[in-house]
Amino acid sequence: MKGQTAIVTGGAKGIGKAIALGLAKKGCNIVINYNSSSVAAEETAKEIRELGVEALCVQANVSNSEDCKKLFEEALTLTGKVEILVNNAGITRDGLALRMSDEDFDAVVKTNLYGTFYCMREAYKLMLKAKYGRIISLTSVVGLHGNAGQANYSASKAGIIGLTKSMAKELAAKKVTINAVAPGFIDTDMTAAMNENAKTAAIASIPTKRMGSVEDIANTVAFLASEEASYITGQVISVDGGMSM
Ligand code: NAP
Repeated sequence: MKGQTAIVTGGAKGIGKAIALGLAKKGCNIVINYNSSSVAAEETAKEIRELGVEALCVQANVSNSEDCKKLFEEALTLTGKVEILVNNAGITRDGLALRMSDEDFDAVVKTNLYGTFYCMREAYKLMLKAKYGRIISLTSVVGLHGNAGQANYSASKAGIIGLTKSMAKELAAKKVTINAVAPGFIDTDMTAAMNENAKTAAIASIPTKRMGSVEDIANTVAFLASEEASYITGQVISVDGGMSM
């Protein structure tokens, strides 16, 4: 993976930052996409450069297809190529489906599912031409099993699984592998908002009895991005302490 270039959407913080650092430790140059976290993105870029590889921060709202085109154009200024795309950017707007507004449904599906598709479509063009590539998208255990209060989020994450399998079939013969990682309950800003009782109940339901770390996810993404994973495509790998057994 040394000398390859990876784009990590939402790479400034949380799971995305751990993925960016994990790939940088393997020798990849990193394009950190962010939407609003410009300061965190620059701090992550600094940590990445200290590992002896290149880093570039690019602002783009992945829910906008023009922004995704611009993200790839700017990414190409780093090394002229992109071998790895990690679709990590994601949001939640939880609530019962009965009361869910059009805006909350649209925002989550636009960011999580459309954003993943827009970036995959840009990567498709480059990877088809290069006859090589790795695309890894962050889905979720709730995309596999559903969750009360997360109809919008679950639908967006289930949609990512469909995209992954369909595009994996389109590109398999071109040495482009496309997989998804389904985290369980990971300690980040996204889960920090939960109240303590809900958190305790969630941890009790995990067979390993602990929340996952951002590194648990980053390690799996780095493996799927590697040469060792070249015979794995169209798969959803759950990294959830056994939650979905
Ligand atoms: P987080 O800490 O809330 O970070 C979300 C990231 O997504 C931020 O870097 C944010 O960037 C970026 N983002 C959001 N909207 C964006 C947009 N429109 N354009 C570009 N970037 C955007 O979340 P996390 O916990 O690290 O989650 C990362 C991924 O893992 C998500 O896809 C999430 O659904 C998935 N996941 C997380 C868990 C968990 O337990 N934490 C479980 C299952 C799946 P800005 O701050 O710049 O907006």
